[in-house]
Amino acid sequence: MINIDNIRADFPILNRQVNGKPLVYFDNAATSQTPQQVIDVIVDYYSNYNANIHRGVHTLSQEATDLYEDARLKIQQHFNAKHSYEILLTSGTTHGINLVANGFTSLLDAHDEVIVSALEHHSNIVPWQMLCERTGATLKVIPMTTDGELIMNAYEALLSERTKLVFVNHISNALGTINPIETIIQKAHEVGAAVLIDGAQSCPHIKPDVQALDVDFYVASAHKMCGPTGVGVLYGKEEWLDKLPPYQGGGEMIDQVSFEKTTYAGLPHKFEAGTPNICGGIAFGAAVDYMNAIGFDAISRYEHELLEYATAQLLEIEGLEIIGPKDLKNKTSVISFNLKDIHPYDVGTILDKMGIAVRTGHHCAQPIMDFFNIPGTVRASFAFYNTKAEIDALISGVKKAKMMLS
Ligand SMILES: *Cc1c(COP(=O)(O)O)cnc(C)c1O
Repeated sequence: MINIDNIRADFPILNRQVNGKPLVYFDNAATSQTPQQVIDVIVDYYSNYNANIHRGVHTLSQEATDLYEDARLKIQQHFNAKHSYEILLTSGTTHGINLVANGFTSLLDAHDEVIVSALEHHSNIVPWQMLCERTGATLKVIPMTTDGELIMNAYEALLSERTKLVFVNHISNALGTINPIETIIQKAHEVGAAVLIDGAQSCPHIKPDVQALDVDFYVASAHKMCGPTGVGVLYGKEEWLDKLPPYQGGGEMIDQVSFEKTTYAGLPHKFEAGTPNICGGIAFGAAVDYMNAIGFDAISRYEHELLEYATAQLLEIEGLEIIGPKDLKNKTSVISFNLKDIHPYDVGTILDKMGIAVRTGHHCAQPIMDFFNIPGTVRASFAFYNTKAEIDALISGVKKAKMMLS
């Protein structure tokens, strides 16, 4: 059970006012807010432990290293990775995808095919297009229905022995669709293809088990799950991480360096060149602890209640259309909508005047907007610290925007 008053007390930002109104923060799919428990860890790090890691003999460096490696273990446990060295700390989802896409350059040629879905964030499209340009491989796209759900028999028809890699998001940031990744992974493996899942949008709501999923790569960002910006995770199966060459060269990732020949460090350091976001990594561990203490079952149940509550009320507004799955079982607490003949940006601007933060635009997913032939949507995305009273404020704000703009 979610004790909403206790939870809200953990988030100092929820007390602030915007344009003279209490903040209603419904842009959680872009970034989540940070609880005091995580803020305290950041302050504590810079107040007491700040030092570079993995190389110092001095006490501070060892303490900072221990905290950072403890965070890696927490993240390993959270994702149920078999080995801690399969957990690479990155600067975020985008970094993780680029690392894998870069690594596949030497593994693909012009006869190969890779598969993406029509429901992706630009982060999970562009690095692969760049990979295809480098290698000559062909990019195929899993189509979707007008409800924003992937067409699975079209996916199966795309798979062949030419398919080397499949990359889809677990949950769409633009529409909230939950994709059937278990089936996607299983079918890809039947033809010998590897699978990368973009978990940026799932990790705030559910706890993925990478071993049960048997997924090859899984990426996420800390800042969407109560952690800081600039840090994230790339889980990779050991056998795949061993096959991929290093992404960036520099300190930390080497074994021996001479001008004749350099040898690389083992996992995970082979992929962690340079000084990482040490404080961010430690705070990411604290964010994982924070969310697990509340519990992902409780979080997703509560958020689903918010989704149902908001959906029912929004649909009563005449001329309002929700884009995405009609069956709420297939989506998370993200609602993308438009008011007939009104530009989403105008709705967002009026809501902001009332202290309500929503996202407007294409949500880094232009192909989805093109598919629906719209310039963008208004997106309200809920977290476990939001309330039904805040949704009531959104509903009256949308009604007011409609009146002012039509
Ligand atoms: C936010 C997001 C990304 C990009 O994450 P960054 O933290 O900006 O790297 C990628 N994919 C999805 C589905 C997202 O929601």
